[in-house]
Amino acid sequence: MTTYKSGLEYAKHLDQNDTLAHFRSQFHIPKDKNGNDLIYFCGNSLGLQPKNTKSYIDQELDDWARLGVEGHTEGKNPWLHYHEFLTETMADIVGAKNKEVVVMNSLTANLHFMMVSFYQPTPKRYKILIEADAFPSDKYAVESQLRHHGYDDKEGLILWKARKGEELANYEDLEHILNEHGNEIALVMIGGVNYYTGQFFDLKRITNLGHQHGCMVGFDCAHGAGNVNLDLHNSGADFAVWCTYKYLNSGPGSLSGAFVHERHANNKDLNRFTGWWSHNKQTRFRMRDEFDQLPGAEGWQLSNPPILSMAAIRASLDVVKEAGFNNMLEKSKELTNYFEFLINGLNNSDIKIITPSHPKERGCQLSIQVKNADRSLHDKLTQAGVITDWREPDVIRCAPVPLYNSFQDVYNMVEKLKNIL
Ligand SMILES: *Cc1c(COP(=O)(O)O)cnc(C)c1O
Repeated sequence: MTTYKSGLEYAKHLDQNDTLAHFRSQFHIPKDKNGNDLIYFCGNSLGLQPKNTKSYIDQELDDWARLGVEGHTEGKNPWLHYHEFLTETMADIVGAKNKEVVVMNSLTANLHFMMVSFYQPTPKRYKILIEADAFPSDKYAVESQLRHHGYDDKEGLILWKARKGEELANYEDLEHILNEHGNEIALVMIGGVNYYTGQFFDLKRITNLGHQHGCMVGFDCAHGAGNVNLDLHNSGADFAVWCTYKYLNSGPGSLSGAFVHERHANNKDLNRFTGWWSHNKQTRFRMRDEFDQLPGAEGWQLSNPPILSMAAIRASLDVVKEAGFNNMLEKSKELTNYFEFLINGLNNSDIKIITPSHPKERGCQLSIQVKNADRSLHDKLTQAGVITDWREPDVIRCAPVPLYNSFQDVYNMVEKLKNIL
């Protein structure tokens, strides 16, 4: 591990040796009133806009203007197959085979569609296990699935909680829950990287545990995709979903990704909701055929997708491809370790980083707990030009991301935090 030093000169030195530093200029960095770059640490919430996004969207607007409906087949990038342009890079990023990945719908919608297939409760085995501080949308989604199948959403929900006085979930506790209740649990559904603590779970370990007890296992990787090495195929998970507007910089509310493990690729008996886009591509437009299920993750599509949003995803994935996802992970580790070093260097007993300190158990986000702080701390940071995310009761979530954040961003942020405290 690198031994870091304090001081601005050292931050500049790290930036000079950063082989990805020039990618910052490929993004629009929000500015303050005086035209200076803000320190943007909210890539875990909404990633910044790549400068190439506009031209990718313009291309499709132009083809639509020029060709109308013919754009589906005659456009420069025929819309009929547009989602296939995204598959390979997306599969690389999440560690999956091409046929295991599709971009479609929005995130919570995909979570529901996956649960249509992978949450098949019976009176004996109907419960769902989630982590205690799950992202609210995920919690609401699984509760509504329980109710939809006629079960009580309190009794049916089992929470994997951190121990009293601790912040992070513990695998021994998960084992304990499964030993105790495994035969009642139909689905284990965990946020791959917890949004609040930044804890990156061991997906393979959780999957193995769930499978040993006969449960289906799925992950919401919204805070993981583009941020950590998810290695979804090897995790063995049954399904995963994620969004593309956080670490994958595709714009507000953009489309979601879904992973279905190849062992389910040709299973036509799995319950699922279908539409014309789940039907065999060759015969889709004959329109009167009996339904013929597309194999693989694509078989979960319903609708012809919004091309303008996909163009933004393609623009962003092309930047990732150019940078190399492994290079991004390398830099990310350095940025966050350096960030941790500087925060610890403040020697302030009111500050505690609740994110795991081992780089394998986190992505770029650090969740910084500040004793007795309130929202005014966040507001002061904002006034000082640092964009972070405040979570009640006392946590600032900060995500320096490798494509557009610099080591000087990290240095300057910690200096400003120090001054405010
Ligand atoms: C960001 C996020 C969401 C948001 O869901 P949308 O359907 O895209 O609004 C849901 N779950 C998790 C874990 C998230 O991080």
